[in-house]
Amino acid sequence: MRPLARWGQLRWYGEPWVQRNVGPMLDSTTPVNRVLAALSPADLRLLEPHLEVVELRQGTHIHRLGERLEYVLFPYSCLISINAVMESGNEIECAMVGPEGMVGAYSGYGIDHAVTDATVKITGIGAQIRVADFRDALPQSEMLADQVARCEALLTAQMHQSAACNAVHDVEARMCRWLLEIDDRSGGSRFPMTQDMLAKMLGVRRTTVTLVAKRLQQVGAFRWRRGYVYVLQRDLIADRACACYERVRLCAERLTSTKPAVQAPAEREQRSQISAAL
Ligand SMILES: [Zn+2]
Repeated sequence: MRPLARWGQLRWYGEPWVQRNVGPMLDSTTPVNRVLAALSPADLRLLEPHLEVVELRQGTHIHRLGERLEYVLFPYSCLISINAVMESGNEIECAMVGPEGMVGAYSGYGIDHAVTDATVKITGIGAQIRVADFRDALPQSEMLADQVARCEALLTAQMHQSAACNAVHDVEARMCRWLLEIDDRSGGSRFPMTQDMLAKMLGVRRTTVTLVAKRLQQVGAFRWRRGYVYVLQRDLIADRACACYERVRLCAERLTSTKPAVQAPAEREQRSQISAAL
């Protein structure tokens, strides 16, 4: 990915898309990615000279199974899907990485090639570091090694839960779980997604997604409009999601200090205004 800026140069970068979407970050020296945020200043300094900020567009492949790993990625506002690719070419989502984690961290332990596919699900920015530089930093920082272990444990937990979820739970429950997980990480009440993309991720027909979405829209849980999903009533979606959502959320909370998703009054007001405008 072409770097937008070096770490620490964000405030000088005038690209309108960045200013519009990550404005608060431009005025802060605190990393948005929680792995970077968890590091001490001394540990962060090991990575800082090598970090590049990149914009990642929906659908971009970070890496494919078997490809040589070039970078470790720390998502900020982007969301990354960790997928299993089927013989049909469909990419079934097994896990998701957002600002709570990192992608390709296992390369730090000498693994040169990707063991999964990773694709950008939601456009946003992240910071990347070359694998060689990450490998140099890792043995010097117990904190970083601890974060890598936690992130990989969370990915493993997600993949185990998804395997059981895909085998046992119905499409509506899985779709609601997926909506909650994106809503937790996206930091807003809307995100770009087509029904076709969601059908591929869930491994079902598009018409099935259309039917389930229609039911959820009829009760006012969310709206699908012009390629965007608007989450309107999170509680209604939570009522219909399978227990896998809560299991993974609790696991993430223990491993990464991720706070539970709480809908603040201001956020609830924002969602009701969106609902009225749609
Ligand atoms: Zn499930």
